[in-house]
Amino acid sequence: MTEKLLKFVTVDKAMPDKRLAAERRHDFAEIYGDFERRAAAEQAARCSQCGIPFCQIHCPLQNNIPDWLKLTAEGRLEEAYELAASTNNMPEVCGRICPQDRLCEGNCVIEKSFESVTIGSVEKFITENAFAEGWVKPPTPRRELGRSIGIVGAGPAGLAAAEQLRRKGYEVHVYDRYDRVGGLLVYGIPNFKLEKHVVARRHDLLAAGGIEFHLNFTVGRDASLAALRERHDAVLIASGVYKAREMTCPGVGLKNVVSALDYLVASNRKGLGDAVPDFDSGDLDAAGKNVVVIGGGDTAMDCVRTAVRQGAKSVRCLYRRDRHNMPGSQREVHHAEEEGVEFVWLAAPEAFLGKSKVGQVRAHRMHLGIADSTGRQVPQPIENSHFNLDADLAIKALGFDPDDLPALFGAPELAVTRWGTVKVDHRTMMTALDGVFAAGDIVRGASLVVWGIRDGRDAAEQMHNYLKTKVDTVSAEAAE
Ligand SMILES: Cc1cc2nc3c(=O)[nH]c(=O)nc-3n(C[C@H](O)[C@H](O)[C@H](O)COP(=O)(O)OP(=O)(O)OC[C@H]3O[C@@H](n4cnc5c(N)ncnc54)[C@H](O)[C@@H]3O)c2cc1C
Ligand code: SF4
Repeated sequence: MTEKLLKFVTVDKAMPDKRLAAERRHDFAEIYGDFERRAAAEQAARCSQCGIPFCQIHCPLQNNIPDWLKLTAEGRLEEAYELAASTNNMPEVCGRICPQDRLCEGNCVIEKSFESVTIGSVEKFITENAFAEGWVKPPTPRRELGRSIGIVGAGPAGLAAAEQLRRKGYEVHVYDRYDRVGGLLVYGIPNFKLEKHVVARRHDLLAAGGIEFHLNFTVGRDASLAALRERHDAVLIASGVYKAREMTCPGVGLKNVVSALDYLVASNRKGLGDAVPDFDSGDLDAAGKNVVVIGGGDTAMDCVRTAVRQGAKSVRCLYRRDRHNMPGSQREVHHAEEEGVEFVWLAAPEAFLGKSKVGQVRAHRMHLGIADSTGRQVPQPIENSHFNLDADLAIKALGFDPDDLPALFGAPELAVTRWGTVKVDHRTMMTALDGVFAAGDIVRGASLVVWGIRDGRDAAEQMHNYLKTKVDTVSAEAAE
């Protein structure tokens, strides 16, 4: 084993080639290239095959990382793919956009002295290679079970559940209000992190496996939850969280103070070739503008980097904590800085200034005070520390809350938590309604793709158990 592995002592960490900032500022293509077979094998061979694989423990899918790294190092790529795909429905997506610095790679044992193994890039390589070789097959079941499942939402959680259930032999119907499959993978996350053809390829594969997609179908408008329960033997709610957190400061209603998702959806739709009047009018286009983005999460990072690519005059990110206390990935901050974004740390907006349109953001400096019950230091305003930033476009990226689903779905009996997320029994993933399950952001609150996939897989397993038990009970009653 040592012959092909434990190379971290002699081989340095290397990512696939990253395009220069000067070039990538002008387009929306992904910033990293692909590993070639030899480079992937060499990087995989850096794995130390340690006794307790912390990478695996800290991967939400508990991917068997050391084993697929070993198989890659040995050139056994089909087996590596089979293993990677056995725990993850979209390894090529996670390999691209998981915040690996906080998950698998951040917990790699060799990270301490030698820098981690490039786990995400190898995962992407294994799966892209498998697609190229024709090893990735549609989820066609061995036999049909004659039972039907309805899934609300074609994001990562809904798609992972759909695939797992279809493999078991269920007839699966996925309903989504958007016109494309993928949820935030398509309309939230920009191309430079995840190109859309990668998601469309998964859609094609699932459709080829017999999963039926009902697009432009809004549950609550085109059918109530009760109607879906009538139509299907079990239902999964995987509708994500979309209500933007609001600010209350003066001037927030001025023109060109916009919410992050409106801005990103418009940009993604434009890239897909759709008609986007609010972009064409200039309202949601940063070209030639001074842009200020408020927030410090991944959504804020996507907004600043999108604005750069649209040709903004200047792009600043205003965040009330410091670099080390921001929720977004450090890797993304680094990319943004390379691309010319200016970060204004420890600063919070106080008002948006302008007559009808915003012209400036008035902000004040903050310092980090005593930690609260969550352990995070609370930002406190510093008196008389005001300053103004020019802003023809201000983007609010303060996070998302769930919509009022019981009202939207016409289902007042659907219990929610005090945060508005759908309440589930965490052992069964069933909601307060019999046969209705829930997964992904709508249960966790805004989270990550990899957690959505994990929840979708868990929900599929629980729905299968539920339906099996139901069949057994009905057969036993019939036999009596
Ligand atoms: C800008 C942005 C960038 C992000 N970047 C990253 C990243 O880099 N890495 C990462 O891991 N995570 C990232 N995330 C988080 C990640 O996208 C989400 O955690 C993940 O998509 C959640 O999956 P989901 O399936 O629960 O919900 P979603 O992806 O939101 O999918 C829900 C689907 O349900 C549909 N739907 C909603 N209501 C209805 C209805 N009434 N009827 C029918 N359909 C409905 C929606 O149209 C949508 O397609 C990002 C999020 C945002 C907003
Ligand atoms: S799914 Fe994400 S956390 Fe898990 S191994 Fe892949 S990149 Fe790492």
